Amino acid sequence: MISIENISKWYGDFRVLSNCTTSVRKGEVVVVCGPSGSGKSTLIKCVNGLEPVQEGKITVDGDEVTAKRANLTALRSRIGMVFQHFELYPHMSVLENLCLAQEKVLGRGRKEAVVRAEKLLTRVGMEDHAKKYPSQLSGGQQQRIAIARSLAMDPIAMLFDEPTSALDPEMIKEVLDVMIELAQEGMTMMVVTHEMGFARKVADRVIFMDEGAIVEDRPTNDFFDNPESERAEDFLSKIL
Ligand code: ATP
Ligand code: MG
Repeated sequence: MISIENISKWYGDFRVLSNCTTSVRKGEVVVVCGPSGSGKSTLIKCVNGLEPVQEGKITVDGDEVTAKRANLTALRSRIGMVFQHFELYPHMSVLENLCLAQEKVLGRGRKEAVVRAEKLLTRVGMEDHAKKYPSQLSGGQQQRIAIARSLAMDPIAMLFDEPTSALDPEMIKEVLDVMIELAQEGMTMMVVTHEMGFARKVADRVIFMDEGAIVEDRPTNDFFDNPESERAEDFLSKIL
């Protein structure tokens, strides 16, 4: 589904990604972790073409993201992305947030978009909040809306960048529960997170990054029970 082949990226002289190679198969859940500044956000931004790479190749469902003439708008409409800060449109109601891209990008009619939006609101436990504005919601609720908005586009894969790290502890679980359900339903997911409980529960593999390189890329249990590198061991001892 997602194939990352030997990519490298520089900001000026600074090499932010070094020869990264990995892949995510259909239905697979891959967690990406590692110290701050190791390149996790940059790596997943490259996957949906938000950041260009100087070397290597990324394909999503057979389409090359890194091609010079890649149709990034079309590509991004097929890959959902949820960031740390819930980027909802503040001047639009929850329902409008969920309908906008369905109508504008996918060309769905109003009725169809609303039906889909309402279904997803129920799925994330937010069916009573359709008329509210983002500022009237808690962080956890906003993040669940952000996930629902991505899902409204019927994405073939979902990318997450620390979706719970800006949330108060009591709101983390409600967002993780939505993500766990999504994973169990077979969504292809690449998730940057330090929520190791989530990783253990649903991740098929864990990628550990350090200084722009993929240092470990292993089945979840192997990674936790027996990290190969000292750097990963050190990282785990700090966060577990
Ligand atoms: P964190 O856990 O703090 O979110 P990260 O692993 O997601 O870290 P990135 O955000 O991918 O790390 O950044 C990797 C490195 O690239 C960092 O050293 C960062 O300072 C640098 N960097 C990121 N964006 C830019 C930019 N636009 N210009 C220059 N350097 C950048
Ligand atoms: Mg980051």
